[in-house]
Amino acid sequence: MHRYIESPKIFEFETQITEVKQVGELFHVNLAESYYFPEAGGQPADRGTINGVKIVQVIDQHPIVHVLEQNPGSASAKCIIDKAYRLENSRQHTGQHILSAVALSMFGADSSSFKIAEPYSTVELNKKLVREQLDALQLRVNEIILENIPVTSTIINDLENIPSTLRHSYNFVPLRLVQINNIDTCPCCGSHVQQTGELGQCSIFGVEPVKTGMKLYFSFGLSCLGVVRNKLQIVNKLCEQFTCGDDILVKNVENAVQNVKFLTKKFNDVFKKISPLWITQNTFKTQQYVGCFIDFTCESADANFVVSTLQKENAKVIVAFVDGNATNITVCDKEGGAEAMQKKIEEKGFKMGKCGGNAQRRTIIVEKKLTKENITQIAE
Ligand SMILES: [Zn+2]
Repeated sequence: MHRYIESPKIFEFETQITEVKQVGELFHVNLAESYYFPEAGGQPADRGTINGVKIVQVIDQHPIVHVLEQNPGSASAKCIIDKAYRLENSRQHTGQHILSAVALSMFGADSSSFKIAEPYSTVELNKKLVREQLDALQLRVNEIILENIPVTSTIINDLENIPSTLRHSYNFVPLRLVQINNIDTCPCCGSHVQQTGELGQCSIFGVEPVKTGMKLYFSFGLSCLGVVRNKLQIVNKLCEQFTCGDDILVKNVENAVQNVKFLTKKFNDVFKKISPLWITQNTFKTQQYVGCFIDFTCESADANFVVSTLQKENAKVIVAFVDGNATNITVCDKEGGAEAMQKKIEEKGFKMGKCGGNAQRRTIIVEKKLTKENITQIAE
């Protein structure tokens, strides 16, 4: 058993370096004794330093391998473990035990593929839960946090002492069992808190369907507080913009979206009526091309109308319109230079979207909001 299991409160220690091996640009260091947590079971490795040199990874081997950015130097090692990071990971890890146990006992949903990450940790359930079930799950987990139940661990050394009540069967020892009173007992090598109250709070922030069921995005402790605070700031900013309270914010946003749709449609109707005049006023000429830049999001049909209007009198036409955060460019060239034009745009280093067409006519999508000057330069 690794030492962090018996001594989870040691965050600074001194020991001897027994081996340093250079691997590429990194250094693999073995210590006479190590209290670092190596990456395992979905929990990232501890962060910290050895003789002031940053640890980039801790590998779960016997002995534990510490991967460093530089050679830590002398034979003795002053080791520091990032306490805040370990504690936060312990919160996510213990939290997941409770979340998985409650999902199983309340809804028969078994867990797999647990991963601690920032800002959300994830776990997959083999069953899809509906909104009400997720709310009930989140509530029960928070109740267990408030009940401040002890989290204990025992090492089982005899096969016959492995309880038959575990979620899955195990046939090896030593086996470390982590128990949260009558809520959950499961074998685990991770780091945990000592009382559920240390988890602070739990939020399920989102779900994603996966082949076998669903993936839950959740967080406990300070990470949870951080995510909630960020989301609250977004709500407050929107309330400020809409000069309203959060009770009618959703309604106001829905109305605003409807208004934008309505006005866009109205504007496009008007544009159809005034487009002959608009085209005359917004046309530009370069040595080869006659072009038009439409500096608002219009319908493709309207842009096509502009294209065909210009094509009546010109052999080479370029029409561009803003499409959200991208620009939609149509190039018409009766002499067959439309493909060459796409290459020319690519060579300018713009990120390209889906393009199509042929040498006489091509639609080119640039993943950037271009200006009239950009289009004029392209057409030269
Ligand atoms: Zn665990």
